[in-house]
Amino acid sequence: DDLAELDARVSVCRACPRLVAWREETALARRRAYADQAYWGRPIAGWGDPAPRLLVVGLAPAAHGGNRTGRIFTGDASGDFLFAALHRAGLAALPTSLAAGDGQRLLGVRMLAAVRCAPPDNKPTPGERDTCAPWLDRELELATASASVAVALGGFAWQALLAALARSGAAVPRPAPRFGHGTEVRVGSLTVVGSYHPSQQNTFTGRLTPSMMDAVLGRAAQLAGL
Ligand code: SF4
Repeated sequence: DDLAELDARVSVCRACPRLVAWREETALARRRAYADQAYWGRPIAGWGDPAPRLLVVGLAPAAHGGNRTGRIFTGDASGDFLFAALHRAGLAALPTSLAAGDGQRLLGVRMLAAVRCAPPDNKPTPGERDTCAPWLDRELELATASASVAVALGGFAWQALLAALARSGAAVPRPAPRFGHGTEVRVGSLTVVGSYHPSQQNTFTGRLTPSMMDAVLGRAAQLAGL
């Protein structure tokens, strides 16, 4: 199969009962601001360049973001922050990501999530992370044919990514390198770069500023030859 086929397969996964219930309940309840919209309410596939040089790995879709629009990092504050930065780095066609059909394109980049369904409180359980891991493994296997760099957004994505690379047989340094903003580690053919997650918790408090995000994306783009 290829990435498009993988996207189609993951979009019908129902392997985690708690997350299936949450993604569907949220889609039914909706938020007042989006009351006139049909929510996606299903797993979120990776999205972007079909032969990416650079991967951006997130945690999981947001209940009223990706779970609403059906596109990763699309329709919430984290996505607004991230896409604006990707655009400044020359990695996205537009500074905003509103919904499918908005004309947005990622340039040499594919985004994916470690867990593909929206979890309550943005926190998947370790069991849910492990249940979703085969999707991540397969996507990495397909994407690393072209990608040489991966940006891990937050400690959860960092750990999930290193674990996936270890399962693929790549030599992950031991002890596993600790997550940090701007930390780099070479694993097999991939350079993994850490970045604080663009959650509101980080961006509203100034823990992650636009210039910090620009520095990481600029470095990752340079490493990827973009
Ligand atoms: Fe399937 Fe992953 Fe969603 Fe669980 S989180 S239902 S494994 S797509």
